[in-house]
Amino acid sequence: MTIEPEKLERAARTIADASVVGMACHIGPDGDALGSMLGMAVAAAGAGKKVFPSFGEPFTVPETFRFLPVHVLVPPAAMPAELDVFVTFDAGSADRLGELEVFVERAGEVVVIDHHVTNEGFGTHDLIDGQAAATAEIVVELLDVLGWKLTPEVAMCLHTGLVTDTGRFQYSNTAPATLETAARLVAAGASPEVIGRHVYEEAPFGYLKVAGAALSRAQLDPARRLVWTVMTQDDLDRAGIALDETDPLIDALRVARESDVALLLKHLGPNRVKGSLRSRGRVDVGAIAVALGGGGHHNAAGFTFEGTPDDVVRAVCERLEPAGD
Ligand code: 5GP
Ligand code: MN
Repeated sequence: MTIEPEKLERAARTIADASVVGMACHIGPDGDALGSMLGMAVAAAGAGKKVFPSFGEPFTVPETFRFLPVHVLVPPAAMPAELDVFVTFDAGSADRLGELEVFVERAGEVVVIDHHVTNEGFGTHDLIDGQAAATAEIVVELLDVLGWKLTPEVAMCLHTGLVTDTGRFQYSNTAPATLETAARLVAAGASPEVIGRHVYEEAPFGYLKVAGAALSRAQLDPARRLVWTVMTQDDLDRAGIALDETDPLIDALRVARESDVALLLKHLGPNRVKGSLRSRGRVDVGAIAVALGGGGHHNAAGFTFEGTPDDVVRAVCERLEPAGD
C-alpha cells in the first residue's frame, strides 16, 4: 500500500476528534462510491459521531444498492453548514461531488479517500492510493487505524465496493491484499451471496428491452478494435426504467472478441452524451476520457460530452491507432 502510516494516522485523528462528520461520494454513485461511504458512515455512527452521508443531485439511490443501509443517507440540501470534517469517497476530483463541492472550501478539514490515479488531491488529508482496487479497501485501512469495528453491516457495505470495482475479483486490480481484505470482510459478516444477487443477478424486466435495443445497434470498427453503441433516452422511456438501471450494459457490449475497447454512449439530451469506456489491456481509456473532459482508470473510465454521439465516436477514434498490417 502506498499511503504512509503517518498520513493515515493524521486523518484518523482528525476524524476521531470530530463530532459532526459530513460525507460525500461522487455523483451518479456506483457500488464502491456508495459502499465505501456507507461503510464509513455506519462505523462512525457506531462510534458516536453525527454523520451526514450524501451525494449531489440527482439524489436517487440506484435500486440495485437499496439493500445497503441507505436509510443513513441525507439529501445534499440537508448537509449542515458547520462541519468538523468533510470526507469524500471515490471522487477523483472535487467537481465529481456536484453541488457538495462547496464543502471542500467550507469545511476546515477535508479527508479525500480515493483510488483514481488521476486524483491530484483536493483535501487537507489526501488518502489516495492508485494501487488500491477500490476506495473501500482504503476505508478498511482507515477503520483499522481508528480502531473501529467491522460490524456485519459495515462489512456488507465495504465488500460491495470491493466486489463491484474488481468486477467480482477478476480485473487486473485484484491483488493478494484485495483478496485478504475480502476474506476479512466476509469473516466479519459480509454476504457474497446477497451482494451478488442484488448487483448481478437481478434487473427490472425493462432492462432486457433496453439492452436488446442498444446491443442490436452495436457497431464494430475492426481496424481500431473498437466496439460501440448508443443507448437513448427514448429506449429508457419506452422500457420505463431509470438510467442507473443500465450500468451492466457496458459489460455486455465489451465481450466482443474482435474489440479491445468498448464505448457505450448514453444519449440523454439533444446535446448531452454520457460515455463509458472499457479497455481489455494496453489502451489507456482513462487518458481518452480525460481528453474528453472526464476521468477514471486505465481500464474503465467515463465522461459527459456536449455534442452528438457521432462527435464522440469521431473524437474517440482519433485517439485510437488503427492497426496497420
Ligand atoms: P462508468 O463508465 O461506470 O460510469 O465509470 C467508470 C469509471 O470512470 C469510474 O471510476 C468513474 O468514477 C469514472 N468516471 C465516469 N464518469 C466520469 C466523469 O464524468 N468524470 C470523471 N472524472 N470520472 C468519471
Ligand atoms: Mn471506485
